[in-house]
Amino acid sequence: MSGEPILSVDRLTMRFGGIIAVQDLSFAAERGKITALIGPNGAGKTTVFNCITGFYKPTGGTIRLNHDDGRQTALERLNDFRIAKQAKVARTFQNIRLFPGMTALENLMVAQHNALMRASGFTFLGLIGVPTYRDAETRAIALATDWLKRINLLDRADDAAGNLAYGDQRRLEIARAMCTEPALLCLDEPAAGLNARESASLSELLQSIRGELGTSILLIEHDMSVVMEISDHIVVMDHGVKIAQGSPREVRDDAKVIAAYLGTD
Ligand code: ATP
Repeated sequence: MSGEPILSVDRLTMRFGGIIAVQDLSFAAERGKITALIGPNGAGKTTVFNCITGFYKPTGGTIRLNHDDGRQTALERLNDFRIAKQAKVARTFQNIRLFPGMTALENLMVAQHNALMRASGFTFLGLIGVPTYRDAETRAIALATDWLKRINLLDRADDAAGNLAYGDQRRLEIARAMCTEPALLCLDEPAAGLNARESASLSELLQSIRGELGTSILLIEHDMSVVMEISDHIVVMDHGVKIAQGSPREVRDDAKVIAAYLGTD
């Protein structure tokens, strides 16, 4: 396994006309850890996610994904589809983007569309040991079922995702991202709109994704209790630039961070 960070962002810059949303931002996300990107509203956090996941083409800088086997992918050169499929970077958005009319199980199956399509031409090759579509489908259902269990929604498998409670939809969305078996999971404000009990259950879920599965997580979050409880490393942005980084304790005590949040800078 490579000792490199899973993600290296170097001098990332994103301009929209005259607006500089992100300027010369450099940071790394360690493999198998939770790295949080925090900062006041408008700091540039979602723009960073949009650059990492190919929704925006950065104005400048590099974004490298370092694979387990030592390969490296230059994310800034790929579109969103290739980043999801080849680099195995999954993301969620600030607003829930489930398929509300599809069942909870179907939402998790959709995430495995690529694996199913890959196997779709191999109906008869099972005879010579090549996994068939049926094999892929069995595996996809098993993975989806496992995730429904993990998020305590197995009994809601056949309910429309849109009918689930808000907190359940949030966790289903994370499960859907995990069903793509990502190398890096990017979560944009997963605790937004959750009550205290739902936030605690979210923290538990993210800790188990990191601890049991070893998945690297990049997290944007305004809920400081969640951030401080589960993050291994925190990068703080304000007005498009990095103003601090370190452990939760280091960041909490940093005068520049306190000033940025209190608006006294
Ligand atoms: P929040 O915490 O409120 O979600 P944020 O830290 O995620 O904020 P961004 O959404 O990245 O901040 O926005 C950073 C700046 O870039 C803001 O001034 C925003 O208006 C601007 N911006 C973001 N996307 C665009 C765009 N597509 N066109 C023009 N300006 C944009």
